[in-house]
Amino acid sequence: MNAYDTVWPIQEIDLRSMRLQRDIETHPLLGRLEESGARVKEARQAKKFLDQKLETEQRLARAAEMEARHSAVSKREIQTRLYGGMVSNPKELASLEHKLGNLDETERAAEEKAIFHLALAEEMEQQVGEAGKALAELEAGEAALRAEKETSLGAIRKEIESLAARRLELAAAADPAALTRYEELRRRRKDGVLARVVGGICGGCRVSLSPAVLAHARTPGRAVNCENCGRLLISDR
Ligand SMILES: [Zn+2]
Repeated sequence: MNAYDTVWPIQEIDLRSMRLQRDIETHPLLGRLEESGARVKEARQAKKFLDQKLETEQRLARAAEMEARHSAVSKREIQTRLYGGMVSNPKELASLEHKLGNLDETERAAEEKAIFHLALAEEMEQQVGEAGKALAELEAGEAALRAEKETSLGAIRKEIESLAARRLELAAAADPAALTRYEELRRRRKDGVLARVVGGICGGCRVSLSPAVLAHARTPGRAVNCENCGRLLISDR
């Protein structure tokens, strides 16, 4: 038995772990989550924009209502003076009447303005409600995707963990020199350091091995590399 036979299952674990790691990095749910996150962000911004517009309309409506109220109060004061018999100077009376007319106009305009902005605010309120509903649906979709991702990636991570535990056991039982050499070579070569010879062919690159290399590979205690891919060969006999 070749010393590298004890390292072979470790390489299988390493290759499997690498594939699993790649599966995590290229998981299709990651792309879908990113898209979903972008849509949620967009919906949030859209709602915020509408919230601000609603607030503006409400504020403008309140200001117009206030202006109408102030005009009404001023009107009542002038009416009291006009019709209370306190003023008799014709010039002053004319001036007060003129003021009253202006205030009347101001009040009416302010009332119209308030109605206008209240109508807009009502419209905005409806839009804000719809935007809120759309946002909630998108957030729920994102949360579901996130949960799905956790389940799926969780299973992969669990397998990686159990492979790591198994690797520790195998490493403890492996030929120390062969394992050390394997670890050294692995730093430079990620797609497998060892290859089994199967029917005179390198199991790593599928190229036929020369009789000389085959003979070396079959000599116990000798380590020989595939002439094509450079992997360390483990003989079939
Ligand atoms: Zn090869």
